[in-house]
Formats: sequence, C-alpha cells, structure tokens
Amino acid sequence: MIKLHDKYFKPFISEGEIQAAIKKMADSIAEDYKEEVPIFVGVLNGSFMFVSDFLKAYQHPCEVSFVRLSSYQGLTSTGIVETLLDVPENINGRSVIILEDIIDTGRTVKKLIDLFSATNVKEFKIATMFYKSEVYSGEYDIDYFGMKIEDKFIVGYGLDYNELGRNLKEVYQLNQKHMINIVLFGKPGAGKGTQASFLKEKYNLKHISTGDVFRYNIKNGTELGKLAKSYIDKGDLVPDEVTINMLQDEVEKNADASGFIFDGFPRTTAQAKALDEFLASKQMKIDATIALEANDEELIKRLLDRGKISGRSDDQDESKIRNRFEEYNEKTAPLKDYYDIQGKFHSVNGIGSIEDITSRLAKVIEELQEA
Ligand code: AMP
Repeated sequence: MIKLHDKYFKPFISEGEIQAAIKKMADSIAEDYKEEVPIFVGVLNGSFMFVSDFLKAYQHPCEVSFVRLSSYQGLTSTGIVETLLDVPENINGRSVIILEDIIDTGRTVKKLIDLFSATNVKEFKIATMFYKSEVYSGEYDIDYFGMKIEDKFIVGYGLDYNELGRNLKEVYQLNQKHMINIVLFGKPGAGKGTQASFLKEKYNLKHISTGDVFRYNIKNGTELGKLAKSYIDKGDLVPDEVTINMLQDEVEKNADASGFIFDGFPRTTAQAKALDEFLASKQMKIDATIALEANDEELIKRLLDRGKISGRSDDQDESKIRNRFEEYNEKTAPLKDYYDIQGKFHSVNGIGSIEDITSRLAKVIEELQEA
C-alpha cells in the first residue's frame, strides 16, 4: 500500500504484465507498419513512460513526437481538454500513431481527432496502454490497446494523482475501502475526547463518544437520557445492553463513514465482544485500540479543572471521580488483555502537550494504514 497526498493506493498491475502487453502491442503495430516509417505521437504528460518502453520494444524504423493535453484534476476528469503543445510539424502524408497512456471517457480522443483532422496525415491510428472500454463513449474505434481495465482510478507508470505517482514502475489502484476503526482507550481524563477531535479531522473519521451521546440525551430529556442519568451522576457505568444498542445506532447512522474513532466504548468485555460481532456483521473490524496512559493524580487534576468549565457533575466531586476509576480498573482495564491477544493493543504516553500526544497517536495510526 502506498500513500499519495491524502489517498491510499494498492498494487494493481505489475511491471512484468505491463512490459508483456507492450511487447505484444509493439509487435502487432510493427506487423502493420514495418514497410514504412510511422510517426509515434505520445500524449503528454502521462504517456512518457509508455512511449519510452514502447519505442524500445518497437524493432523497426520510426519517429517520435509529442502533443500535450490536460484534462484530469484530482480524481475526476474535468471534462475540458486543453491543448498545451500542438501537433508536430511535417506530418503531412505520414502515418501517425498516437500513443496514449490511458483512454477512459474518450474526451481526449475526441480532442486528438479534432487536432489531427485539420492536418493532411496519410493515416491516423490510436494506441493506448490502458483502455477502460466500459466507460469509453467515443465514436472512434480504438485501434490498439495494451490492456483493458475496469473503471478504477489508477496511478503509476506515468499516471498521476495530482502530479504524484508518475514515477512508479507498476500501476496502483485507489484503495477505497481502507477503513480504519480505532478504539481510544484510557481512564477518564486521559484526553480521549480532545485527541479524537484532532484525529477525526486528520484522518476523516467519525468520532463516537458514548459519554457525549448520553449527555446529549440527558440534555434533551429523552428516555435514554433519563435512564442513563442516574448511573452517570454516581460515576457508575450505564448497563451494557443500553450502551451497546445506542452505539450500534450511532454506527448505523454513519454508514458512509470512512472509519470510526470509538471513545469511551467499549468499557466492558461484554461491550468489546458485542462490538466485534456487530462490526463483523458489517464486514468491518477494529484495527487498533490505542491507550492514552497517565497517572491518577494527573487525571484527577485534569478532571477537576474540566469540571469547573464543563459543569459536568461527575467531574466536580473527587469521590465520584475515584468511583469512575474503580469502575475502570474493575471493568474496563481487563480489555487490555482482550485486545492484546488479538495483537491490537497499543499504548501511548498521554502526558505532554496536546500536539505531542496527537503526533504519538498519528504515528500508530499511520503504521496501521501502511500495513
Ligand atoms: P465519559 O464522557 O466517556 O467519561 O462518560 C461519562 C459517563 O457516561 C461514564 O462515567 C458512564 O456513566 C457513561 N458511559 C459512557 N460510556 C459508557 C460505556 N461504554 N458503558 C457504560 N457507561 C458509559
């Protein structure tokens, strides 16, 4: 897996497959043109690598030239094709074979036909390395192609994603399903909420804090809020059944998310098991549980400080805080082993500046994304 700008790409077509296809295409073009000296015209920028390999595989006299067109911006074609470098001179009466890296919708093909129909070439043919035949909607029948491919966004072998990836020897495809689901683990006050708010922006994840969902329900006087309030006020955990159902609803509501940060869930082994089963039913999984480690004294100080601002009753009374820690030690701490056995437990020092802690977490997440 490789990362270009903000996106991940996975291997798709190997160097060997590309070279074999080029050899075949070069042989078949040579068969048709070996009696004359054709001019191969590469379409820049994307075709430079293909043109080079193609010419090395073409064993007969030929000339080479280039035109330069541009249409892609980011992941989707802009629809407007600009001519940046015009048709070569002295092509009158000659056979021109366009060398394109990829043909998809056919907009570039149309532009090329417009450009060359204004000339007096003897013959005009189009050869493309990659051909998305399913999306090609042009009238012109493509003369030669190296490989037909499905409609996937690809990079490498001259093709780019916002200019990166052209130098790759093989072709990669966009990895759309690289979902990352993380559990942020740690005692109350460890900084899970604070860090989640940064991570969700950085990695485009949906943050689900069960504590926040409960507080939202309490504020709005819902049945769920009324039920949860008595537990939360004492610093006890809300019963599993209630919390698990609520969490599942939150995930369902965000079915299009590119990943989740679970903050404050799971807090019991039953919740962790329910989460695994639920995610599996959706072809999803937890990739990592990352614990923010800090000592109790630091945490109590942070929570009491937070209580002054947030007004959270469970943050204002040291005995309630201690009860939350006891709940954690008894019910939540055993989850370390649960995730450790699965090789998913990571621990990060939760003391330091907010930025430093974010970088520590980012390091773990980026290692996961590269895996
Ligand atoms: P938090 O905002 O994560 O500190 O959560 C505040 C309170 O909400 C906890 O002390 C519990 O009473 C309740 N709560 C939040 N998440 C859960 C959970 N996963 N299981 C049970 N109770 C929870």
